[in-house]
Amino acid sequence: MQKSAWMSYGEKQVQQLETIAAQYKVFLNDGKTERECVTQTVQMAEKAGYVDLQEILSGKKPLQDKIYTTLMGKTIALFHLGETSLEQGMQIVAAHIDSPRLDLKQHPLYEERGMAYFDTHYYGGIKKYQWVTLPLTMHGVVVKKDGTSVEIKIGEQKDEPVIGVTDLLVHLAGEQLDKKAAKVVEGEALDLLVGNRPLAGEEKEAVKKQVLHLLKERYDIEEDDFISAEIEVVPAGKARDCGLDRSMIMAYGHDDRVCAFAGLLAILQVERPQKTVCCLLVDKEEIGSVGATGMKSRFFENAVAELMELTGNYSELKLRRCLSNSKMLSTDVSSAFDPTYAHAFDKNNVAYLSCGMVMKKFTGSRGKSGANDANAEYIASLRNVMDEAGVIWQTAELGKVDYGGGGTISYIAARYGMEVIDCGVPVLNMHAPWEIISKADLYEAVKGYHAFLTME
Ligand code: MN
Ligand code: MN
Repeated sequence: MQKSAWMSYGEKQVQQLETIAAQYKVFLNDGKTERECVTQTVQMAEKAGYVDLQEILSGKKPLQDKIYTTLMGKTIALFHLGETSLEQGMQIVAAHIDSPRLDLKQHPLYEERGMAYFDTHYYGGIKKYQWVTLPLTMHGVVVKKDGTSVEIKIGEQKDEPVIGVTDLLVHLAGEQLDKKAAKVVEGEALDLLVGNRPLAGEEKEAVKKQVLHLLKERYDIEEDDFISAEIEVVPAGKARDCGLDRSMIMAYGHDDRVCAFAGLLAILQVERPQKTVCCLLVDKEEIGSVGATGMKSRFFENAVAELMELTGNYSELKLRRCLSNSKMLSTDVSSAFDPTYAHAFDKNNVAYLSCGMVMKKFTGSRGKSGANDANAEYIASLRNVMDEAGVIWQTAELGKVDYGGGGTISYIAARYGMEVIDCGVPVLNMHAPWEIISKADLYEAVKGYHAFLTME
């Protein structure tokens, strides 16, 4: 039986833990999309003395040891150059900052019987029935033909309206309730109710026109501008303490912003690294790490190539050596044991809430398919590092064999020939609108990632 991390804390540790938890809740509240997470990360990095790579490349700022670089506002890498040459490899913590949600379609707005809706296409793996009858909010950007970008964020302030997806009243749901859970609410039923009041003086589609009128007034956008928009619909409301004992946090987007935030705090605490340390926060993990801002993009290796060139040490071979000599923690969440659904977990090989940071040798499904499967030698060295640093940690797999599975970015980084292991925070009801983590596990992850970044 794993021991609760809380048992080992004195007053000082609890204080540190609560400080981190409070900072994390702010990060979540201001970071409900990958773009918002990058914006915040840039602010935190610059405050800690990091400089934008572009400013160095353009000669505006001199080369220095703390550098960050972003791509398309949706992915970011922080580097803190160490004593040893890049060729000898880096210590990398890498998380993803996209989370499951509903995205607006390119022609979202329609009216039906005096009700206006936004049509959506869900993003990532969700149980669709969980996304109805909840207050939801829109975050994102609309880019107009002239290139100007309008930021949209509505539904988070107390006096702002929310939107939502309706569900059939239980009184008439006999047939619906006989359906399989995957079909109870179908993808095309995830449309958002956004209006019910006609625009004065209009006859046809007057409710839709009223919505367009409001959008024009508030944001100066037209219906066609949704064609070049990225509007993400997410649960409205703030991250909150959970449990009468306030031991947990309930919030949208723990997967994987909890590991992103822990990695970020850890790298910002590193003072003078031996090896170069890196915190990489990527987009698109929830849809297969595709696209220019996903882990399968060349963004990361291009950034490392730029760094090598700047430090006067670039060649294709040296870049490859740097990547293959690097070590990574693929910092992504894992499932936490849920006693209500005990049948889905192997009790000896699952993560328990509040029992610390969790290392996963492999992910994948059906016979480890798609897994990275970390090396025994690497895990042994990490066991040593974590125990020396007094980090409370556990090992796990997602659930029982053949019950399902999941992936992370670890197998993609492993293609460089580097050592990679999945190492994160346990989460309850992962991918639900509101997920739960333990403050203790967040605290241990920050400690663990710091120990990793500064290991010899
Ligand atoms: Mn994840
Ligand atoms: Mn996920």
